[in-house]
Amino acid sequence: MAEGERSCLMRTYREPEIGFVRGRGAYLYDEAGRRYLDFIAGLGVNILGHCPPAVVRAVCRQAGRLLHASNLYRIDAQERLARILCGASFADRAFFCNSGAEAIDTILKAARLHFYRRGERQRRGIICFEGGFHGRTYGATSVTHRRTAREGFGPLLPGIRFAKFNDLASVESLISSRTCLVLVEPVLGEGGVIPARRQFLRDLRQLCDRHGALLAFDEIQCGLSRIGTPFAYQHYGVVPDFLALAKGLAGGLPMGAVLAREPAASAFQPGTHGSTFGGNPLSCAAALAVCQRVLVPKFAQRVRTLGEYLRQRLRERLGGLPRVREIRGMGLMVGIELSEDGQPCVEQCRRLGLLIHCTAGCVLRLLPPLIVTRAQIENAVDVLQTVLSGHGTKSPVG
Ligand SMILES: *Cc1c(COP(=O)(O)O)cnc(C)c1O
Repeated sequence: MAEGERSCLMRTYREPEIGFVRGRGAYLYDEAGRRYLDFIAGLGVNILGHCPPAVVRAVCRQAGRLLHASNLYRIDAQERLARILCGASFADRAFFCNSGAEAIDTILKAARLHFYRRGERQRRGIICFEGGFHGRTYGATSVTHRRTAREGFGPLLPGIRFAKFNDLASVESLISSRTCLVLVEPVLGEGGVIPARRQFLRDLRQLCDRHGALLAFDEIQCGLSRIGTPFAYQHYGVVPDFLALAKGLAGGLPMGAVLAREPAASAFQPGTHGSTFGGNPLSCAAALAVCQRVLVPKFAQRVRTLGEYLRQRLRERLGGLPRVREIRGMGLMVGIELSEDGQPCVEQCRRLGLLIHCTAGCVLRLLPPLIVTRAQIENAVDVLQTVLSGHGTKSPVG
């Protein structure tokens, strides 16, 4: 945009100070050719880094053959992708859409329809969690707790209650024979990078079984090896009925998915749900290339090892600083909780060539691409130490 020009965009995002023209691996480049180490990776989307060659090749090949023909016709890549995702997980069936919020809406609809079709027509209730974030459609907004996401949009979907995260008693006080679904992020992302306790998710599974409710995991941010297992539920040893994916699934192209097991996986019948672009050949080609890499247990193991290394280095270098309250996370999903607003630190890091993000007000969030190296981790930790110890302006990156 030229100097003095008025933006024609709706003001849904904070006015950005910079933009990028090119990316490669863990780096982004601005118009001036300046290099930035990217530890937010498109909000967790670019899990294989920027322009991963295998994904770019698959997309270019598919773009030259067929972009779109609709779900009126068979899409072989969609079948293949569903088979790979189901084969690597608990799921019996998959549904493809274009975003995380759509995946969440799909789960809300499937859960209610499942019980409707079984004649349990009083089962409409949905339980989700304080601190949770599930997206921006009306359905996803309705199950998101944050005030700024909800205020002014009412009336939202009825039948939704919020329990306290990691607090089983709070769920017990809300769940009943009228509950159709419990929806939870195994690791709260926007809520401040807070992992669920293993026992909490195990107890939640039992509680759902006892009351006949379905359980859904929102793994849109924490799935696909981000926390060090191919799917987050595998780390917890708790099998949900539904699982939502998006973000990294197509390595940078828009795509969402719902994985489900029977009987809930068969709630939809032809005509009850769908998406024009969902599972289009281009996104599927990209996702096939991504899944071939990230669903391999060895890949996930490397993420876990690197994540441990990152947190260990952060603790060594930042642990004693007065502004730093806690360093936490799993795999390459890391939060640094500060005792103050994190936004100034985000901006200082950017000036020093490191891209990070701040969520829940005071939590610096690191979501590096899963292909990050130890040397890049060292660079990022250097910048964070410089910024959080409150002095120095020279760039240690590049
Ligand atoms: C990003 C995110 C969403 C929403 O995904 P969109 O693609 O923006 O609709 C939902 N849930 C979680 C946990 C997320 O991180």
